[in-house]
Amino acid sequence: LLSLEGATVRFGGRPVLDAVDLDVAEHEIVCVLGPSGSGKSTLLRAVAGLQPLDAGRVSLDGRDQSGVPAHKRGVGLMFQDHQLFPQRDVGGNVAFGTRMRGASRAEQAERVRELLDLVGLPGAAGRAVASLSGGEQQRVALARALAPRPRLLMLDEPLGQLDRSLRERLVVELRELFGQLGTTVLAVTHDQGEAFALADRVVVMRDGRIAQSGTPLQVWQRPVDEFVARFLGFDN
Ligand code: ATP
Ligand code: MG
Repeated sequence: LLSLEGATVRFGGRPVLDAVDLDVAEHEIVCVLGPSGSGKSTLLRAVAGLQPLDAGRVSLDGRDQSGVPAHKRGVGLMFQDHQLFPQRDVGGNVAFGTRMRGASRAEQAERVRELLDLVGLPGAAGRAVASLSGGEQQRVALARALAPRPRLLMLDEPLGQLDRSLRERLVVELRELFGQLGTTVLAVTHDQGEAFALADRVVVMRDGRIAQSGTPLQVWQRPVDEFVARFLGFDN
């Protein structure tokens, strides 16, 4: 579904993505792990079309995406700081994601209801964003990202603000949800427990490069080098 070949992004001459090659198959859940500043968010932004490449390419279904604007790529991105619209209620936030031009109000409301049920917030459409807990806000952001039914959903620290017990519960729910919807997922986290619970495959980044890619078990049992071993060990 997704393929990066030699994808490179430089800021001030410094490569932040350094010739990254990565393939993500349909229905695969890939988690990108790595220390702060290793280029994880930049990778997602490049795939989404929000960050132009200095070299290399991003392809979706074998089609080069250079010059294809973000809204035409058919991918969803949930940002690190989720960026809900505080002045709209929950339903308004999710409806924004549906982008259903021409749909009747009733159709839109029905779709919003479905999505809120899906993320475990039934009946929340009329609530003010500010009245929700951090975890509930992240679920709303997820519903909004799922609304356009993206084939590829990218999540940047989707559970970042939450406490460990809530994260552990949500990870299990998310895995189930993505399985049901058949959504291909590329998710960033710096929590290795989260990555290992969610992912079919884990990609560890270091300084804009992929240090290792493999199943959670492979990466856990056979880290390719000192860096990966220490990165996993420190977080443990
Ligand atoms: P974190 O875990 O902290 O979110 P990250 O792995 O997502 O980190 P990125 O946001 O991809 O890291 O940033 C990688 C590097 O690129 C960082 O050193 C960052 O300061 C730099 N960077 C990112 N965006 C820009 C920009 N627009 N201009 C200049 N430097 C940038
Ligand atoms: Mg980031």
